[in-house]
Amino acid sequence: MRSIRRATKVRLARMDDFGAVKELADKHRHELGFVRLSVLEEAIKGGRVFVAVNSSSVIGFVHFRCCKDGHATIYEIVVAPMWRGVGVGKALVNAVIEEARREGCSTLRLKCPIDLPSNGFYHHIGFQRVRIEQGKKRSLAVWELVLNLPCAPSWQFFVGLTSDASQIRALVRRFFEGYNRQPPFNPFERIIVSALAERTTLRLLKSWRLGDSSVLNCQFEVPSPKSLMFDSGGYQVQMGKIGYDELCRRLQEIYERETWADFYVLPDHVPTSRDADFEVEWKVKETLTMGELFLRRLSNLFSVPQNSTHAPRPIGVVHGRTIQQVIYSVRKWHELGVDYIAFGSFGTSGPNGSVNMLSKRSLKLLRAIVEEAMANEQKLHIFGIGNPTYLLKLHENNIIPTSFDSTGWWKAGGFGKVFFPSSQQWHITRKSIAMSLRLNANGHDCPFCLELTILRRCRWSRVLHNLVSFAETVQKLTMGQ
Ligand SMILES: [Zn+2]
Repeated sequence: MRSIRRATKVRLARMDDFGAVKELADKHRHELGFVRLSVLEEAIKGGRVFVAVNSSSVIGFVHFRCCKDGHATIYEIVVAPMWRGVGVGKALVNAVIEEARREGCSTLRLKCPIDLPSNGFYHHIGFQRVRIEQGKKRSLAVWELVLNLPCAPSWQFFVGLTSDASQIRALVRRFFEGYNRQPPFNPFERIIVSALAERTTLRLLKSWRLGDSSVLNCQFEVPSPKSLMFDSGGYQVQMGKIGYDELCRRLQEIYERETWADFYVLPDHVPTSRDADFEVEWKVKETLTMGELFLRRLSNLFSVPQNSTHAPRPIGVVHGRTIQQVIYSVRKWHELGVDYIAFGSFGTSGPNGSVNMLSKRSLKLLRAIVEEAMANEQKLHIFGIGNPTYLLKLHENNIIPTSFDSTGWWKAGGFGKVFFPSSQQWHITRKSIAMSLRLNANGHDCPFCLELTILRRCRWSRVLHNLVSFAETVQKLTMGQ
């Protein structure tokens, strides 16, 4: 037997694979039916096609999609005849399974005409046949694989981009240019932005999310984000910039108008460390009451059919100072049918309680939230992670969220601070030798910190280096799971 397996690699398809993928699809029209080229092209651009490659030729591909309702679907999968029976198909399915898990999907589904031998393959790799359906021309067997991940822990990183449109453009362009347009990962797959951000920012993000990257004014194609989350802007109330009632009024208006996002954080009244216990209690209750009202008022937005590709989802915020308060909130959201919750009630310090602290108390609250959320099969988002060490601290405490967000990398870069993966942040004025040693430690690799002098002089280099450090930490955590 040929030593095929070792030489075969599965990776995301690129546009230059399009010809080979199309050829495979054309050759297997009997199995696949007619595959529309525009659909295939879109799928490759959207990161929904894996190819199996052997000495640089494409020998198989799989086209799939992960939906927000928790299902992933395989639309087409092909392995060239001479490569069958040696594990290529299985490797392609495994790549989809991994991606589906990362996206928080709990089942993988596919349909296969009942007369094809591949039905045996699906059975062999663990799929269950759930029913037979009448297709257009022939009967189809529907196969399902349960992915078994109730809380979908996955460290999905939502990059905070609440900034000027021009700053966002510069950031994205500089990131891709730094890597000569071929970055090893794309940190802009998931974005969080305050719903109260400037109109020009929202317009830019909308076009980009909906597939038009020309708004970024780059001279090259930039992949579109896979999902975008609206933050409620509760932080603005915490900072005393607007009142809570004003926030709710404006938020409702914005959510009714901007219906293109994927996740909508419901309004929340953020307690601060200076609040008295009765004030915290009142804010916890008010967050739930107002959230319930929003669910009712925006029921049109959240009632898109389950199998639609665009199903906007509400996220309920959990606040509280006591375990009792947070558990009460998680249960209440569950009762209201909200299956994605978020926590950001860390102890605060700094002016107006603006800096999140990952104190012992918040870790204890988070532990309780994670357990309750898992029991209810709810997903958990954690707001405002300051720097990569917070992630490590969560991991050490076995708190693994579905997702989290951070603008810390951006802010810290602006203040002259530099992150190191898996270690603390340092101010850029620290001694240079120790600093360069640190930069090269832990396998960190990025084009923005090649020279310390550039890092000292240029804010963008610090910001982008910090972003890469963050992403590297996430990568390590995901692989170590
Ligand atoms: Zn770097």
